[in-house]
Amino acid sequence: MRSRLEARLQSEGRGFGALSILRCWLGAALRTALAAAAPDQTAREIENLSHFLKKQETLQRLARAFGYDASKVTLSPQTKTFDYLGQSFTSEGQSFANGCIEIYYDPQMSDARLGCCLAHELQHVRYFLVRDAYCAEPADGPLHRRFAKYAPEALAAQRGVSNYSNEHWDAWKGGAPPTLFSFELEEGGSEPINETIAEVAKALYNWGPDVRINPLWRELHDAINEEYTALHRG
Ligand SMILES: [Zn+2]
Repeated sequence: MRSRLEARLQSEGRGFGALSILRCWLGAALRTALAAAAPDQTAREIENLSHFLKKQETLQRLARAFGYDASKVTLSPQTKTFDYLGQSFTSEGQSFANGCIEIYYDPQMSDARLGCCLAHELQHVRYFLVRDAYCAEPADGPLHRRFAKYAPEALAAQRGVSNYSNEHWDAWKGGAPPTLFSFELEEGGSEPINETIAEVAKALYNWGPDVRINPLWRELHDAINEEYTALHRG
């Protein structure tokens, strides 16, 4: 069981293209803010801290361990905060359409949490690559056939796999349940499917392959990653 503080530290956000800020805010808006770790330090000063440099090395090592191009993963000295409903929130990480991932430095961040955060963000990158391929093929294409069983109603009946992903289900404003590989944020103001799959990746990293997790989501996560690997090789 995570401590309350640890739970608060799980906040994250990510973004793609023009919606990056919005997505980042949305993800982070669901979290309680942390006070800025060192508000009086400049980014340049933080970057030169031995603790920052050590965490940066750890992040690079983690990226390589995930089999990911470490040059696309950076530790940012910036603190991404914003105000929402009278509260200040912070974001833990963000992924971009070009496959780049930024993790925002927090002196309190353990290596384990760094890994969890990277696992979550990397899953967003995989999801979007498979979504692009899905959207580019005809409606009877192989990806459409493979993922047809994950109908909106079937996924909505499961809801999320963590508090964070359930917050996205709670925040969904669409007239109908969200659809796999749709533009969830535009349609419903949150990303229940995308975030739930990212949380499966985080859970698998954190607790290992024997973690008890919703089997339908686990299966979908695995299917997406298989297709990602196939696309990556192709
Ligand atoms: Zn996320």
